[in-house]
Amino acid sequence: MPSSRIADESVPQFPDWLGTDKLHEECGVFGVFNHPDASALTVLGLHALQHRGQEAAGIVTFDNGQFFSERRLGLVSEHFTKAPVLNRLPGQSAIGHVRYSTQGETILRNVQPLFAELGSGGFALGHNGNLTNARTLRSSLIRDGAIFQSTSDTEVVLQLIARSKKSRIIDRFIEALRQLEGAYALTCLTNKKLIGARDPLGIRPLMLGKLNDSYVLASETCAFDIIGAEFVREIENGEIVVITKDGVESHWPFPKIPARPCIFEYIYFHRPDSILGGRCVYQVRKEFGAQLARENGVDADVVIAVPDSGVPAAIGYSQHSGIPYELGIIRNHYVGRTFIEPEQRIRQLGVKLKHNPTLCEVKGKRMVLIDDSIVRGTTSMKIVQMMYERGAKEVHMRIACPPIAWPDYYGIDTPDREHLLAATNNQEQMRKMMGCDSLAFLSLEGIYSVMGHPQRNASQPQFTDHCFTGDYPTRLRDLEDPAPIRQLSLLAEAS
Ligand code: AMP
Repeated sequence: MPSSRIADESVPQFPDWLGTDKLHEECGVFGVFNHPDASALTVLGLHALQHRGQEAAGIVTFDNGQFFSERRLGLVSEHFTKAPVLNRLPGQSAIGHVRYSTQGETILRNVQPLFAELGSGGFALGHNGNLTNARTLRSSLIRDGAIFQSTSDTEVVLQLIARSKKSRIIDRFIEALRQLEGAYALTCLTNKKLIGARDPLGIRPLMLGKLNDSYVLASETCAFDIIGAEFVREIENGEIVVITKDGVESHWPFPKIPARPCIFEYIYFHRPDSILGGRCVYQVRKEFGAQLARENGVDADVVIAVPDSGVPAAIGYSQHSGIPYELGIIRNHYVGRTFIEPEQRIRQLGVKLKHNPTLCEVKGKRMVLIDDSIVRGTTSMKIVQMMYERGAKEVHMRIACPPIAWPDYYGIDTPDREHLLAATNNQEQMRKMMGCDSLAFLSLEGIYSVMGHPQRNASQPQFTDHCFTGDYPTRLRDLEDPAPIRQLSLLAEAS
């Protein structure tokens, strides 16, 4: 059995607002098997996936009978580009993770990949998604004597694998997965294998790539581009891939059901240069914009995007409507994403810091202002106000997705329902709050038609779209029984 050295550098400084104990997170995963520069490739892959999580990053490698782990709070480029760190991550196989948990505990023990020394050997695990029965499983594991080292829902998976009585690691893994509900794209590393798994509905993405004789796994194909790997295919919903020296072997532990990937990956989360569902995400977003113009045309002088997320839809809107697209807002790229500061007060400050109108494109103009989505409404309200302050004649806000009225429980950070603007306000109320001349959203039918479906199949929707419909694709078991778990709160106090 290989021994393990887990070298984590503690960074105890984190602000008070990170002290709450909810476990939603956005993440990106990466893995590489059989490459002499495994850790350097993982650093590059994680850098390409940085938009999926900016609060923490980690890499685990395996070399010569030992596992090596480095986990840090902060950006990949801040911690993983220096030779000493890479030298501490030797080996030909690696997995990596970027994490963003505005509400979970951003403390080092929650930073992934998590690692455990199981009876069968070391096992490292990186997770994108969110389990909807993690609290329930955790309670029962604690009752059975399990001792948790983190407050991350991902540790539940490790504990379940550890407790399995099966002998082969793949069987133990499958037994654990069969107990999970919710969304997961997993990358795992053992002494001989790189394993990838996607939940039965394929809510969160996972891709397979190839770089000469090496295989690569990643949340998005942009992580293959950065290292010159070829995109092979998506891991399918409910599929487990086991990558060894002999190649890739698939396992299908669940009854096959139709996939239901998360539509929000297309709307906001994925990088536009990635391929998803066989389509270029940039193209899909442009088509959302064109459809928005078809559904909600308006007479105007200029189309302006809220950068960067609104840009592809604005280009699509402009191309369809014939209204010229202009850079009417310049974004300061040195400010983190708006959502990184979880408090409303700080978020508002963040929006001001981040965007500035281009006077010549705004003054005296009738504009169509496009963003991909409205969540709390903070961004749109600020930007509409800014436009009028800079002399805009008319502001027609157009949003390239339907109103978001329901929180996500599958790995995208959204606020509670009461803080979602569209949950408590109708379109006219939202327009008044923003103070714009008109406000319109892309319809759900419009989204489905761009995605190649004449209509949404109500009995078996083609996408996970609960943020618009409230139709959650799995049971939300933890919400049904939100009983407090003693060990969780003890850990929170200790942090
Ligand atoms: P809000 O200002 O709360 O209405 O949020 C909407 C803005 O945040 C839009 O510009 C989106 O591009 C962006 N956005 C939407 N969903 C998310 C998310 N889950 N995390 C971070 N940003 C998001």
